[in-house]
Amino acid sequence: MYDIIVIGGGPAGLSAAITARVRNKKVLVISNRLSQNPLAKTKVVNNYPGIPQVSGLQLLKQMLSHARGLGADFVFERVVSILPTEGRFAVATGSMNSEGQSIILATGTQHAKAFEGEKEFLGRGVSYCATCDGMLYRTQSVCVVGLGADAVDEANFLGEIGATVLFLGKKPPVGLDSGILFKNGEVVRIRGDEMGVTGLEFKERATGSIETAPCSGVFVLRPSIAPDALMDGLTIADSGIVVDDTMCAGVEGVFAAGDCLGQPFQVSKAAGEGQRACFGAVRYLDQR
Ligand SMILES: Cc1cc2nc3c(=O)[nH]c(=O)nc-3n(C[C@H](O)[C@H](O)[C@H](O)COP(=O)(O)OP(=O)(O)OC[C@H]3O[C@@H](n4cnc5c(N)ncnc54)[C@H](O)[C@@H]3O)c2cc1C
Repeated sequence: MYDIIVIGGGPAGLSAAITARVRNKKVLVISNRLSQNPLAKTKVVNNYPGIPQVSGLQLLKQMLSHARGLGADFVFERVVSILPTEGRFAVATGSMNSEGQSIILATGTQHAKAFEGEKEFLGRGVSYCATCDGMLYRTQSVCVVGLGADAVDEANFLGEIGATVLFLGKKPPVGLDSGILFKNGEVVRIRGDEMGVTGLEFKERATGSIETAPCSGVFVLRPSIAPDALMDGLTIADSGIVVDDTMCAGVEGVFAAGDCLGQPFQVSKAAGEGQRACFGAVRYLDQR
């Protein structure tokens, strides 16, 4: 059982993890790989105090190695759900569950907007994790919307367990099993009725034609998941997650920091908020 589980390994999450270790808390960071962090794409960051002319990836590596050196644990996977259970939180990725007494959300900006029908049918045919929910669809037709690095593996897994799979993406992905139908297209909407998902409507890129693939499950596999789809009870404004003075995100024991709170999108601001969120979590833990 961890004192703090940090979701997201960017500047906010890594700063939170560093402060957690300085305050002697047992901390786990669960995040997509560093290479998937938006900052990793920038060649030069020149406004982070004390480290001029550093590449984004190098800055992230230094922060990670700092946190790791202090004793923070790391898992490089995508978090798909956070469930509060009797004063603690169960955090699930595709392959494992971890338990923490408190949570710091540091998931960065949510670049993609939810598809029409996505929120409506979440848990009723829409899923973010084939490894978690695939068995429910083992003899059925499903669509995979392949937007993240793990989408091919997840699609192949669905095929292996007996689902009929259509993979919707931008270009034929390397490693996709030959039994899986690939379509080069973009989602128009997820269709359904009172029972759940009935199909995926998409636009074929080459022809512009609109097609509907009948299916009972749609796996939307993005690198990140909107915080309010990860867990219930958060207050979300247009700009991002709403927090109070202690960086509490509206659910007892859950704190948030960084770009997921809104602008300005800056490394220093994210790192500072990560530290404040950690202070909030430490105070919460110490008062328990
Ligand atoms: C091209 C570019 C250049 C930039 N240049 C600068 C600059 O020069 N100076 C500056 O100050 N700022 C710059 N920024 C902004 C800066 O990158 C961000 O403000 C900063 O990275 C925010 O830190 P964060 O920790 O809040 O979020 P992020 O750095 O976005 O980190 C969030 C992490 O959480 C991961 N994640 C999200 N959801 C999940 C999930 N469900 N499971 C697991 N992991 C998850 C994401 O993959 C990501 O790795 C730049 C941004 C870009 C895109």
